[in-house]
Amino acid sequence: MILGKNQSFYCKFAKIYRMRKIQMVDTKTQYLAIKPQVDAAINEVLDTAAYINGKAVKDFTQNLATYLGAEHVIPCANGTDALQIAMMALDLQPGDEVITPSFTYIATTEVVALLRLTPVFVDVDPVTFCMDMESLKKAITPKTKAIVPVHLYGQAAPMEEIMAIAKAHNLYVIEDNAQAIGCDYTFSDGTKKKTGTIGHIGATSFYPSKNLGAFGDGGALFTNDKVLADKMAMIANHGQSARYYHDVVGCNSRLDSIQAAVLNIKLQHLDAYNQARQKVANYYSTAFANISEIITPAIATYSTHVFHQYTMQLKNVDRDKFIAHLAAKEIPCMIYYPVPGHLQKMFGAQNNQHWNLPITDQLTPCVCSLPIHTEMDEAQLVHIVEGVQSFFN
Ligand SMILES: *Cc1c(COP(=O)(O)O)cnc(C)c1O
Repeated sequence: MILGKNQSFYCKFAKIYRMRKIQMVDTKTQYLAIKPQVDAAINEVLDTAAYINGKAVKDFTQNLATYLGAEHVIPCANGTDALQIAMMALDLQPGDEVITPSFTYIATTEVVALLRLTPVFVDVDPVTFCMDMESLKKAITPKTKAIVPVHLYGQAAPMEEIMAIAKAHNLYVIEDNAQAIGCDYTFSDGTKKKTGTIGHIGATSFYPSKNLGAFGDGGALFTNDKVLADKMAMIANHGQSARYYHDVVGCNSRLDSIQAAVLNIKLQHLDAYNQARQKVANYYSTAFANISEIITPAIATYSTHVFHQYTMQLKNVDRDKFIAHLAAKEIPCMIYYPVPGHLQKMFGAQNNQHWNLPITDQLTPCVCSLPIHTEMDEAQLVHIVEGVQSFFN
């Protein structure tokens, strides 16, 4: 018997010694936990050979609509396509202005420029990292046609206010829900809705690392408007109204049956997955509460937070040194995102404009995201927390 008096010490040591490698996401371990169901679902697609538009796609679309409480779900090839199809369906014309935060993943603004629309960047709130309402109101001009709020890192943008502003100015709202699927929004009258179902259209991504991730690319659009739903389905399918009759210019954007089969299984676990993320976030936030150099992510009063990322702000900290300190302990972390939209070269024309986005400029150099996913175990969390704490001691 090796274990004697020092058993607990040894166990702690052994646990850390055998600790699974820490990753930003761990899709493999998540798969292994549901392997029999996922493999059976994939095999069913292989047996029927209905690779495109098969039963799995119809089932998943239906199940997702039920889960979200959305009347229509239109599957597509990825989240970027979803945003593009949404803007095409709204008949936005070149030169129309679309308001989005600069502090987001590039896909949100890239499609605006791709469609020859004019991206108008607004600032974010330093607490929620989502679109700032004062900045939004100031950005509206007679050319504004749509607002694209992003529920960044899994935290909902203030949709009740955004919808009121949009209504007052007769604007469309497309929610970029790629990071927040499953997030619950509570309105001031107590009614609840899932994010992505509040605006005129919601767009989401099933990229493998997203909260509901496929084994490849995938995306979807949500709406309660039948006319928009039909139009988006048509655009995603070459603008086709009847076979080989193409009424509008569209694109080719499909969710394939194997991805739908995987997503259909994972959808059953989405709430549990989001709860697992929330537990990790809570563990970190509790552990870092008395480190004055760390501002832990807040949870807005009007919604849940599904923690696609756990993003903290570092105050008076050399971020490169902090990252190197963690890397030496094999703790990965990421900067989401190192360059905000308004400073990207792709928006060259806009770079000449004077963007006044002080919060975005302030957040970019100080954000840092720690590993967060559904499969983190206690030993990993202890190691990460100790790694972070040791930097400040
Ligand atoms: C991932 C993501 C997208 C794009 O999704 P893809 O499926 O990768 O095209 C768009 N917006 C945000 C905020 C995202 O995080």
